[in-house]
Amino acid sequence: MRVGVPKEVKVDEYRVAMLPVGVEELKRVGHTVLVEAGAGVGSGISDEEYAEAGAQIVASAKEVWDQADLIVKVKEPQAAEFPLMRSGQAIFTYFHFAASETLTRNVIESGVTAIAYETLRGPQGDLPLLTPMSEIAGRMSIQEGAKYLERPQLGRGILLAGVPGVAPAHIAILGGGVVGKNAARIAAGFQADVVILDINVDRLRYLEDIMPPNVNTLFSDRHNIRQQLKLADLVIGAVLVEGARAPNLVSREDLKYMKHGAVIIDVAVDQGGCVETTRPTTHSDPTYVVDGIVHYCVTNMPGAVGRTSTYALCNVTLPYILKIAKEGVLPACKGHAGLNRAVNIHAGQVTNAAVAKTFHLPL
Ligand code: NAD
Repeated sequence: MRVGVPKEVKVDEYRVAMLPVGVEELKRVGHTVLVEAGAGVGSGISDEEYAEAGAQIVASAKEVWDQADLIVKVKEPQAAEFPLMRSGQAIFTYFHFAASETLTRNVIESGVTAIAYETLRGPQGDLPLLTPMSEIAGRMSIQEGAKYLERPQLGRGILLAGVPGVAPAHIAILGGGVVGKNAARIAAGFQADVVILDINVDRLRYLEDIMPPNVNTLFSDRHNIRQQLKLADLVIGAVLVEGARAPNLVSREDLKYMKHGAVIIDVAVDQGGCVETTRPTTHSDPTYVVDGIVHYCVTNMPGAVGRTSTYALCNVTLPYILKIAKEGVLPACKGHAGLNRAVNIHAGQVTNAAVAKTFHLPL
């Protein structure tokens, strides 16, 4: 099979969908890999490294799209890429169709097979291609919080760790899933005073078992959230209700309980955010202040640490790419329940119920 790796064209996107080791593995079993020149630069991987691993470096995106049977990407196809999609071709990437009717209609019209990372299920019903990005965003949330708590960034001027004789920061994490657990682990390492709130008591039980003594758990209800907002220097929004908009756990009114210069990192912004005053921001302009509270609401946090994110993503996508290349797109998907769930659109037909429902399209 000919596998194509175009350079990502979305603004602020530094990831790439394949590592040189992926090229080598595919070549070893007889496949051809076409990599667009410069595709790895944002992640610190040169064309020479891909070439040494056996890739064919091609000058333009068009050449990759024209020749490849399987395109592997990171972000959903952008408007400039719509005319490049070809009937009979498969694309393996994050699509997030429900967020864009234009993308959905263009993919339907193109006749490609769209295999979406975000709906691929693992053996335990988990989402193995989403988890690494939540791990990254969770860990990063504390490092961003530390930065924006500094006075020149309009924060309270608090050092997360404190020093002997001065208390460390208090951090409240709303949601103890993948993002929340990873945020707590890093915050604990900073010696901060950490509380994780969740509505799932079994999850709190598990977190209490594995976390160090400076991490405590609390049931997530109105009273406990309000009490934590009063204490917190840093609040991390990390809730998720599958398939739904994030619940609004902090109203604008609630900001008045918080300390002036406290920071909210609302990681759940991509699902609408769990704070009423959240609005999406970008890496180039990540924060804004409402009622004295610094808000950071970047929708693609992992994009800023492109190198780490590329490695974390490619580690989990490669086994599926090898399987698809070996068996062919349709046999590989039909023979694997998790991969089959990742097929959202095939040959002009929507095959994912949620996408069909969102845009009133036939299934
Ligand atoms: P997850 O499913 O692993 O965890 C979500 C947790 O929220 C669960 O433990 C759930 O019980 C809890 N929860 C639900 N309702 C709650 C409530 N009312 N109060 C407290 N807890 C509640 O999800 P995740 O992988 O940790 O992702 C969290 C959010 O972060 C998602 O919206 C995800 O899309 C987002 N995310 C954003 C970025 C970014 O770049 N901004 C990157 C990765 C993930």
